[in-house]
Amino acid sequence: MKKAHKIRIYPNKKQAIQFQKTFGCVRFYWNFLLNQRITNYKMKKENENDKEDKTTYATLKKQEEFAWLKEVEAQPLSQVAMDLNKAYNNTFKSNFGFPKFKSKKYSKKSYRTAMGMKVNGNYFYVSKVGWVKMAETLRFNGKLMNVTISQSKSGKYFATFLVDTENFVKRPVKETIGLDLGLTHFCITSAGEKIDNKKFYRSLEKRLVMEQRKLSKRFEVAKSHKRKLDESRNYQKQKVKVARIHEKIQNQRLDFLHKLSSRLTDENQIICIEDLNVKGLVKNHKLAKSISDASWSEFVRQLEYKSAWKGRILVKIDRFFPSSQLCSSCGHNDGKKELHIREWTCTNCDITHDRDVNASINIRTEGLSGIA
Ligand SMILES: [Zn+2]
Repeated sequence: MKKAHKIRIYPNKKQAIQFQKTFGCVRFYWNFLLNQRITNYKMKKENENDKEDKTTYATLKKQEEFAWLKEVEAQPLSQVAMDLNKAYNNTFKSNFGFPKFKSKKYSKKSYRTAMGMKVNGNYFYVSKVGWVKMAETLRFNGKLMNVTISQSKSGKYFATFLVDTENFVKRPVKETIGLDLGLTHFCITSAGEKIDNKKFYRSLEKRLVMEQRKLSKRFEVAKSHKRKLDESRNYQKQKVKVARIHEKIQNQRLDFLHKLSSRLTDENQIICIEDLNVKGLVKNHKLAKSISDASWSEFVRQLEYKSAWKGRILVKIDRFFPSSQLCSSCGHNDGKKELHIREWTCTNCDITHDRDVNASINIRTEGLSGIA
């Protein structure tokens, strides 16, 4: 099984320059090949006997005006040729659309290589760059397939390693668990645990709103001075600031979800969840709500693949199952409960339930009954 791990990296000045050079060459070569394809196509249309131009990296770098291509690793460039081929063929196979030229400003800065690739603790090596410091060690053991170097909009560098791992199946355990997506908490387990995810964005939310307001002010200032946005230094500086906060929220959110999904798939053999159609949930502009909606689908995705690695079972129960109406002690359906009711007493057996814990126990019972 192949797994990817994205790690923040800290190149020194020289290495950063080399990354930038490679990003540039990769972009140039993509545009060069795409242009060549289009030209050849037009030419063939006009005269069937015209010879196609088949200039490649190998012939290009021998020309004096393109000698700078030799300064970067060749492998990312041949990767570009393969990627373009794929994109080109996809155009005719499905509705992917014709490959587009990559603009210097808007296209993603990244390249993939495997040349000389090594990892040692908190450092990794690729040829023409040398040893680069990483923020953490590689999460997976196995054969290194390739690494994608990228730069985010806020200017941070990342390396995404693709690792072919050996078998990750864990020894079976007896524990089973039901999970309910809560209103007051991110998730509530049938074991009675209430897991909160609000702490990490509360402080950042205020800052985000503030910095975004500043950004739109700078937008107005640039407009009133009839200055182009990419020439307005203050606007650009603020844009990076906003992007940084977004990234920070995103990183903390992912870190939280990874830790939780790893723990739950470590501890339990069977995990039962509600099959919520998160995409269908109403789009909400409140940050807290939208984060928790987006988090749930990512969380389910992680539970799915981590269960598959570890040999665990993930059971999704029908989302119309009345998990919050049934009494988990006697099975009596006590009818619909208003959302503000956090606790209720069963009219049949007189047991008092915490609304969310009761629901997650029901989800677990229902999930287990489906596979028994
Ligand atoms: Zn009851």
